[in-house]
Amino acid sequence: MIWWWIRRTLYLSLGRNLTRKRVVPITTVATVTAAAVIASKKFDSENSGQDKQSKEVMADNSTPSVCKYSKMWGFSNPFENWREPNLMTVVKWKTKYTNETNLPEDKKILDEKLPVLTPSFKPNAHNDVCVTWIGHATTLVQMDGVNILTDPVFSDTAGPSICGTVVGDKRYRPPACKVGDLPDIHAVVISHSHYDHLDSQSVHDLHERFKENIHWFVPKNLKSWFTGCGCRKENVHEMDWWEEKDMPGHPGVKLAFTPAQHWSARNIVLDKNKTLWGSWCVIGPKHRFHFAGDTGYCEAFKQIGEKYGPFDLAAIPIGAYLPRPIMEPQHVDPAQAVLIHQDVQAKKSVGIHWGTFALAYEYYLQPPQDLKKALEEKQISEEEFFVLKHGESRNVSTEDGQSKL
Ligand code: ZN
Ligand code: ZN
Repeated sequence: MIWWWIRRTLYLSLGRNLTRKRVVPITTVATVTAAAVIASKKFDSENSGQDKQSKEVMADNSTPSVCKYSKMWGFSNPFENWREPNLMTVVKWKTKYTNETNLPEDKKILDEKLPVLTPSFKPNAHNDVCVTWIGHATTLVQMDGVNILTDPVFSDTAGPSICGTVVGDKRYRPPACKVGDLPDIHAVVISHSHYDHLDSQSVHDLHERFKENIHWFVPKNLKSWFTGCGCRKENVHEMDWWEEKDMPGHPGVKLAFTPAQHWSARNIVLDKNKTLWGSWCVIGPKHRFHFAGDTGYCEAFKQIGEKYGPFDLAAIPIGAYLPRPIMEPQHVDPAQAVLIHQDVQAKKSVGIHWGTFALAYEYYLQPPQDLKKALEEKQISEEEFFVLKHGESRNVSTEDGQSKL
């Protein structure tokens, strides 16, 4: 059973590299698996050394978190509660815990519980901050005359293409619209390379539609992936944590790439952690938006709040968090999402990263239910930290249309 699962995982994770070989010989799998386990052990031991340094750095909470990089092992989180996921983590997850997603087979029930609305995009008014949830981590944020898309994924399946077929997590709720239905998009922010956040077909379609008018803000070491998809190199802005760049064509709007506690990979064995991950701050002349991406809870969010807050809006993940012993380092639960909301000093937050792909083991409707409980405990209103229906929009502008900076 375990060997079957390891074979399947490696087959899926190696993706395009195996397109010419439908069957992976068991000896190859064993060798690669052994190498992966040794690699992850070595990585962990290297990290433990780095952790000591990080703790010293983080002892002074005002020092911004810095992501370490080594050519051999890629990037590593500097946070003390980080634990690197490895093959054993996955084996433990799949053998020890019960999947309680309980997705209904009847589509009518899904349509009733998680309706997908057709978005009605409004023209971007300079005094408004408006968010539309397209699904999972894909949102359209319209503020200060700029339309920003976060982690655009419009495909049915999040995973690698094998022999022309995309294999991976199939979405159980469709995207609220297609790329062709979007208003003009000026900027796209990408949190990291995982398939549920970075989809080659969606990038291709957005590039085909908007060409030189769309700017891609991407984590360090991902630029070549985007130029490989056909994006113009002048339009791809690769950034490190705490780096800032002005948005071309929109004076007064800048973007900052900020930390998150996560990891990256599109084929695990070959490119694990070779590209950076993180969160984004969009700072306009009147408003500010924070996109937390995909993250475990870490002290960096307080630093982000101190440096760039308060934010008019934050988009914070609330799903894919059970079982906690497996998911905690990389995915916040709703209570921790509320902590991030407070740490970054968000006036309003929207819960994302739920209701679309079944990535973890919680009941599929549990994220908003647990968010409600966490908000009640902190006496925060559901208007302050809300969830949207797929395709639903909300204008979160302050009354005078101004951020209180
Ligand atoms: Zn991820
Ligand atoms: Zn994710």
